[in-house]
Amino acid sequence: MISNCRLCGGDDLRLWMRGGRNVNLDYFKCGTCSLWNYDLDCGPDQRQYTEVYASPKDASNKFIEHWQASWELSDKAARAVAEDQGIDVIVANFLEYDNPDKETYDVVILRHVLEHLPDSILAMNKIGDLLKDNGLALLEFPNTRSMSYSVKRVLKNRGLRNKKYSEDWRPGHCNEFCRQSFEYLLNKTGFEMVVWQTYSNKPVANAFYRLFPIASKARAGAENSG
Ligand SMILES: [Zn+2]
Repeated sequence: MISNCRLCGGDDLRLWMRGGRNVNLDYFKCGTCSLWNYDLDCGPDQRQYTEVYASPKDASNKFIEHWQASWELSDKAARAVAEDQGIDVIVANFLEYDNPDKETYDVVILRHVLEHLPDSILAMNKIGDLLKDNGLALLEFPNTRSMSYSVKRVLKNRGLRNKKYSEDWRPGHCNEFCRQSFEYLLNKTGFEMVVWQTYSNKPVANAFYRLFPIASKARAGAENSG
């Protein structure tokens, strides 16, 4: 059971959605900052995310990006990145990384990572430590204020969404954001939002979401304002 919001610390948590195997996972929305807090009593499971590497050289991968340095959770994924991109890769948990050489960077990118971390304030503070003054943090994560989340919530709460869960299924996500809760996080950690978009990997849908920001995935840029 969770009694305080992991972002603002407030206790105005409303049971917002129920899901998971045997409907034993509760999602609480914070009335103050809008963060969706997952009840993690059953413990999050991040194993499924650590081994996959999709090359930006692959034409079917729509996001072509170039990194100068990269962090990976798994040695296997790290080797694949180093080989594919010809760049240095540090394998580390960046939440515990103490940056011994005090290196700072122009850009830090977290793509679909933030929602997996229980302590998002610590994550943004760590990103701030790694950035130069006025450096840019780019993050992608699910957008709870989206059409598909609204539909999912209605279906789940009526017991109409019957996804098959394995015996040992546990949630991978810990917290989920919308624009409001993400801005709350930025304000709390010395960042200023410079761009907010929601997006789709499909070009036509993506054009639509440029006009109506209700896609289930969000992309935000924030400047380290110190
Ligand atoms: Zn809150």
